[in-house]
Amino acid sequence: MTNSTFDTMNTEAKKQLKSVFGYDNFRDEQEEIINQVLNKKDIIVLMPTGGGKSICFQIPALLFDNLTVVISPLISLMKDQVDALKSNGVHAAYFNSSVNEQDKSQIINDAQSGKLKLLYISPETLIPAMNSWFRDLTISLVAIDEAHCVSMWGHDFRPEYTQLKSLRTKLSHVPFIALTATADKITRKDIENHLGLVNPITFLSSFDRPNLNLEVRGNVPKQKKIDQILDFIEARPDKSGIIYCLSRKETEEWSQILNDNNVKANYYHAGLTSDERDKIQTAFINDEIPIMCATIAFGMGIDKSNVRWVIHNNLPKNIEGYYQEIGRAGRDSMKSDTLLYFNYRDVKLLSDFARDSEHSTVLQEKLNRMLEYAEATTCRRKILLAYFSEVLSDNCGNCDVCRNPTSTFDGTVIAQKALSAIKRADEKAGNNTIIEILRGAKTTEMFSKGYNELKTFGIGADLSAQQWLFYLTQLKNIGLIEIAYDENMHLKISTFGEKVLFGKLTLQLAHYQEKEKLSKTAKVKKQPSSLSPDELLFDRLKLLRRKISVEENVPAYIVFSDATLSQMSAEKPTTENEMLAIQGIGLQKYISYGQDFIDLIKLFIKDTGPKKTTFEETFDLIQQGLLVDDIAEIRKIAPTTVYSHLAKLMQDGFPIQFSAYVDDSDFRKVKAILPTLEDTSALKPIFEALGGEVDYGVIRLSLTFIGMEG
Ligand code: ADP
Ligand code: ZN
Repeated sequence: MTNSTFDTMNTEAKKQLKSVFGYDNFRDEQEEIINQVLNKKDIIVLMPTGGGKSICFQIPALLFDNLTVVISPLISLMKDQVDALKSNGVHAAYFNSSVNEQDKSQIINDAQSGKLKLLYISPETLIPAMNSWFRDLTISLVAIDEAHCVSMWGHDFRPEYTQLKSLRTKLSHVPFIALTATADKITRKDIENHLGLVNPITFLSSFDRPNLNLEVRGNVPKQKKIDQILDFIEARPDKSGIIYCLSRKETEEWSQILNDNNVKANYYHAGLTSDERDKIQTAFINDEIPIMCATIAFGMGIDKSNVRWVIHNNLPKNIEGYYQEIGRAGRDSMKSDTLLYFNYRDVKLLSDFARDSEHSTVLQEKLNRMLEYAEATTCRRKILLAYFSEVLSDNCGNCDVCRNPTSTFDGTVIAQKALSAIKRADEKAGNNTIIEILRGAKTTEMFSKGYNELKTFGIGADLSAQQWLFYLTQLKNIGLIEIAYDENMHLKISTFGEKVLFGKLTLQLAHYQEKEKLSKTAKVKKQPSSLSPDELLFDRLKLLRRKISVEENVPAYIVFSDATLSQMSAEKPTTENEMLAIQGIGLQKYISYGQDFIDLIKLFIKDTGPKKTTFEETFDLIQQGLLVDDIAEIRKIAPTTVYSHLAKLMQDGFPIQFSAYVDDSDFRKVKAILPTLEDTSALKPIFEALGGEVDYGVIRLSLTFIGMEG
């Protein structure tokens, strides 16, 4: 294929992205993936949940002449994707056991006549159909979603997936694209082999989800945990969230606790009938039940973009599961919170499960790594990404460890006190007992077991029990203490620990810090009384969305995503063009809902005083002395957008102090590169010529400045 054909395809793909899906730019690898699909290559896409996999086959489907078949294992997921496509004006349908006979023949007709662009189908429906009506279709592309289901080693193995290989053989000239959010090596190999892909090109995206805030709290007593979770929910009124529990009983318990405290919530687990489960799941997706207390059975196949938080009531079994579960939050890329609680009783329980299983060593090891993550005192995102073989060079700044960076001190004496208490208790005591020994607690256990006579009894009375817990955890993390999961969680001293105990090594420890302060400050910030005008408008837009979603019986996020409403509340579009400039609003969405939202925004502006342009709003914040990142954060817009506002303001004669926003050295780089370039009207060539070292926004502002100078 020649370069110019490529370029035409690119432009076409981009046009579809804007007019159908309402987005200006492709994310990361989407464009390259689409190119290769159009080039009829077999492809494997590994991208985290929320990364934007669907567009990778949906846009080619729009550009190809004939039908795209999408194989998907979950009925609910198929329905959601098809609803979303239809709302964007795309001819799509799904075909599975839930469809009645009459609809089935209609769909077959539409597929054969070329009316349909995409047909979603489950593998168990497809396999038998391959020798009947399916044979007569003219197919341009096959997409296999949730492709990890083909892997026996994975957590979602579906035997029917292995039969898809025969489809590959039958459709030898049709490109296949396999997509999944599971990234490990075995899965990748299985996908390639068992689906019979031909020299597939593999796209492995970063699994980083920077919008997810990570926080872990260990060994919080039950009542305190309840208080904390109620506070957490109160600070996020009306936001959608999931509490994951280990057992069915706990899901019911938490739902009850929340209801008792006037929080609307329900529970979900595999013990409910499938009707009940469907009903509850739909209510959650439609924002009717904001909070779900659930076992991990909940979530697979839920394509809800505005889940704002995920709490784990217990430690997950492994990091894969944990990552997938927290990944259900913030699929719309907006900031979302995740909070993990763990205690050693869960670890014991999980460890017992693991031991009794067939692959016991692996499961134990995975559990250990999960625990190490929970106990870590280094950036958590680094640990997570390292688990998926990715290196994050800087600390993330969006986890509890990063927010509370630990300064260290010589902790040798503290370590020695703890280690010697463990030794004198004959390595036959657990966490709590050791802490009581150190603190010289006057409990019956101390006296009945004679611990009160140990030399170490009370040598750590200067520290609180919380502090000791904190230091013991660190000693475990660093590897001085090991937990004997098989001996009642008794603490043992490792060889490394022996060296410290006998003074052969010194040791740095992180300072103790109170963890709860964080959530309290977060709470103050989010009191409803302090809603800004943008937030008020956002709430009203959400109500309108809700009304439409009920009327049309589609999930709220299919009408518009939270990200779209948020941009709408910041920019306040009141014309068709302004509305179409909002991300996520394509032509069909504009036709269906645009006017209703414009009317609401106009009314809101009338109620709240004269409308400021988006530039003036940015200017107000500049006058308050705020910098680009802060303004972007407050206005919920991208920093590059703020830069473009600055450029416009500067051009319009507003007093903008250029040097406050552009580094002198950056400016000189931009200025120096210009004479070497043919085209200096577009930003991209300049950006690339500078090796990506200078941000687009800075380049744009510099060009404006240079233009004004000259
Ligand atoms: P995945 O299937 O990988 O979990 P989706 O395909 O459901 O992810 O996409 C997640 C969200 O991101 C959706 O709301 C989608 O509309 C949005 N999205 C996808 N691509 C883009 C893009 N290029 N720009 C903006 N939003 C996008
Ligand atoms: Zn971090």
